[in-house]
Amino acid sequence: MDEILRHLHSIQTTAEQELLSASTQEQLAGLRVKYLGKKSDLSQAMKLLSGLSSDQRPLAGKLINETKTLLQDAYDRKERELSEQETQRKLARERVDVTLPGRRLPSGTKHPLTQVMEEIQQIFSGLGFSIADGPEVELDYYNFEALNFPKDHPSRDMQDTFFIRDDVVLRTHTSPMQARVMEKMTPPVRFICPGKVYRHDADITHSPMFHQIEGFCVDTHITMADLKGVLYLFVSEMFGKGTKLRFRPSFFPFTEPSAEVDISCVMCKGKGCRVCKMTGWLEVLGSGMIDPNVFGFVKYDPEKYTGYAFGMGIERIAMLKYGIDDIRLFFENDIRFLEQF
Ligand SMILES: [Zn+2]
Repeated sequence: MDEILRHLHSIQTTAEQELLSASTQEQLAGLRVKYLGKKSDLSQAMKLLSGLSSDQRPLAGKLINETKTLLQDAYDRKERELSEQETQRKLARERVDVTLPGRRLPSGTKHPLTQVMEEIQQIFSGLGFSIADGPEVELDYYNFEALNFPKDHPSRDMQDTFFIRDDVVLRTHTSPMQARVMEKMTPPVRFICPGKVYRHDADITHSPMFHQIEGFCVDTHITMADLKGVLYLFVSEMFGKGTKLRFRPSFFPFTEPSAEVDISCVMCKGKGCRVCKMTGWLEVLGSGMIDPNVFGFVKYDPEKYTGYAFGMGIERIAMLKYGIDDIRLFFENDIRFLEQF
């Protein structure tokens, strides 16, 4: 019995000393195997129990277990201490300096066409126009028939129009919105309708998909002077005060009379340059007084109401505003081009 007590005491003393002096997690793990593992002196001591008398055996067993608990506690304390030290070292190493400036993410900008579109919408909103949106896949009825296009009109030709079916097309202009809005509302109506349009055409100034804005106003006593006044305000806002306006007679099936509208060249201010082909003028939009035949399709009384309409290509306006000479640049999505706006 005395022998066992001495043996336990010596195990406890050396084990505690070694545990206390352990300075790394690796050392500690080794000591755990050495003093608390299956092959440790303490486990071996259990074998000595068989050499004891039956009245001494329980007491000796109890002492062995107590020693084991003491060593386990000493191990746990050291384990906590070392992992706490490790945490502190880690915190010191990975200190975050909250005063450092943050990293900026590269921010995108709106596409130049979106910017021009929004600017045009803003100008007309300021003049009391509402905004309407409509389908790009359009019935022949709205795209042509209700706009007074004769059955044999050349724009109905396959050369220009993308047909989905005989009676369904990709809209070739935003003008179908005139009929769509008017058939739902009674005058006064004053709307602009921006959107994508499609034509079978592609070169330096034409894209098979491009953007238009349609504008129209119907009420009693609307005259061409109202059209001219609204367009004059628009070009002054868009291209700067002092921009001149010129109406040239033209033809559209859904307006009578019709006029192409030119502005004084934004590049040379009317002196003549390459952009305006030395004329001093740039064509920007088509317009006219709404044909009474169109009113027939939407059940407006042509004796009571008159109205004007105009339509322009957004790409054309953007090209003039920014001095861009190739329409395809808008759709290549080259970041070096887009970044400039
Ligand atoms: Zn010019």
